[in-house]
Amino acid sequence: MNVYFHTFGCKANQYDTERMRQAFDATGAVVVDDPALADLAVINSCTVTSESEVKLRRFVRHIARTGDTRTIVMGCAAALDDGTLAALPSVQAVVPNADPNAVLRAAGVSLPPDPLSIRRGGTMGKSRALLKIQDGCDEHCTFCATTLARGANRSRPVAELIEEARELAKYHAEIVLTGVHIGTYGQDTSHVGTSARCTLGSLLEALIEAVPSVRFRLSSVEATEVDDTLARLLIEAPRHLAAHLHAPLQSGSNRVLKRMGRHWYTAETYRARIEWLAERLSVFGLGADVIAGFPGETDQDHNASITLLHALPFTYLHVFPFSVRPDAAAARLAGPLRPEVIRDRARELRELGESKATAYRAQRRGQTADGIVSGRQRGQLEVMTEDYLSVYLDTLTWDGRPRFEVIVN
Ligand code: SF4
Repeated sequence: MNVYFHTFGCKANQYDTERMRQAFDATGAVVVDDPALADLAVINSCTVTSESEVKLRRFVRHIARTGDTRTIVMGCAAALDDGTLAALPSVQAVVPNADPNAVLRAAGVSLPPDPLSIRRGGTMGKSRALLKIQDGCDEHCTFCATTLARGANRSRPVAELIEEARELAKYHAEIVLTGVHIGTYGQDTSHVGTSARCTLGSLLEALIEAVPSVRFRLSSVEATEVDDTLARLLIEAPRHLAAHLHAPLQSGSNRVLKRMGRHWYTAETYRARIEWLAERLSVFGLGADVIAGFPGETDQDHNASITLLHALPFTYLHVFPFSVRPDAAAARLAGPLRPEVIRDRARELRELGESKATAYRAQRRGQTADGIVSGRQRGQLEVMTEDYLSVYLDTLTWDGRPRFEVIVN
């Protein structure tokens, strides 16, 4: 059987797809890059915005037009499907979340004899891999349907993660710790299986000790969940933990943060944590997610976001124009904004993000960085620095090492 995979959404989804790919591989299926050559398409869905579901439905229809391919939709949107996805052309099954056995069963394939384990995190380029440390989230942000789709926080045991990291380190120079809400790692202690409470910081310490040869990187982590252990590792162990945080802000207005249900920080506590770190890190890649035009957001609220974003040393921003997601509580909040207001605010935030990125790049140009090969584009080698900059080099100048010192250009 020829199987084609496509992933929408976050790094946790990329990890789940990779696991699925390996599960099919273990059954003797052939993974193909072209849906027209596939007997089966497995689409890992996302539900973060209503746009992501529109894109998903469009993509499923596109697959149906390419030939006789059957489709299985898995992931977050599949978990919340009210029958809309199941009714799309070519869809054979809608499988909630990411259980490889459930997808194999839905595909009518016998299960592989060996327990499934990740050996290579191939979706991020040869030298970088993903390690999912937890799934789910215990929070209820009003714009997010992830909690509904993925359920409560479930942390994976430390010993299992160390074993997987050791395996990944045979093939990869960087391992990105990913999940849905990684700052809450270990808070569900019964799943972790240790008597002392484990945290993201103590997990990282254990991973670095067990696998010192790789560089770890955190995917998205809340600024106020960077505890003292994590901060110390960021400052003191740059070879082992990349100097990079992607710390979701969402809004710089406390009033809006409250309406978003993001009760664990304020603009002031976010700012204090980031400033403390920035003062101690000479090289620091810093990104954030920001939502433009949340219901009830006033000009004053928007300006509070702009002011905070100006004040902190962000090196890039991910800006999301607010869109109503019917399953999320924000759909029922008063004060929805006109689309043109949302668009204009998003544009202003994006322009600010671009100017900060340009300024940071200019400041880093000519300096050395700890580079790890992350892919190839247009005949060039893409190298990722510790502070999350992509540096492009002529492939012919590369001696084949996955990690080397590079000059930011
Ligand atoms: S912290 Fe909020 S935005 Fe993040 S996954 Fe949990 S509910 Fe969603």
